[in-house]
Amino acid sequence: MPKKNIHPKYFPKAKVQCACGNIFEVGSTKEFVEIEICSHCHPFYTGKGKIVDKMGRVEKYRKRLEKKEALEKKTLKKKK
Ligand SMILES: [Zn+2]
Repeated sequence: MPKKNIHPKYFPKAKVQCACGNIFEVGSTKEFVEIEICSHCHPFYTGKGKIVDKMGRVEKYRKRLEKKEALEKKTLKKKK
């Protein structure tokens, strides 16, 4: 028998709360998402290595962030 709620609802303005207290909105299948790190408290931005990497989550996030930054830089170059 198929389970109920197989298709997750999409929340275009889901609330994301970071462990540092920063809250922002993002599209997600969850109405409320809790994260351990965001651009505000990330060592990449703060320069402080205060956050402990839990199960490689931070590393994953950092790589994703770097990809995004590289993409944005490319876009900027194209505009010039
Ligand atoms: Zn944060």
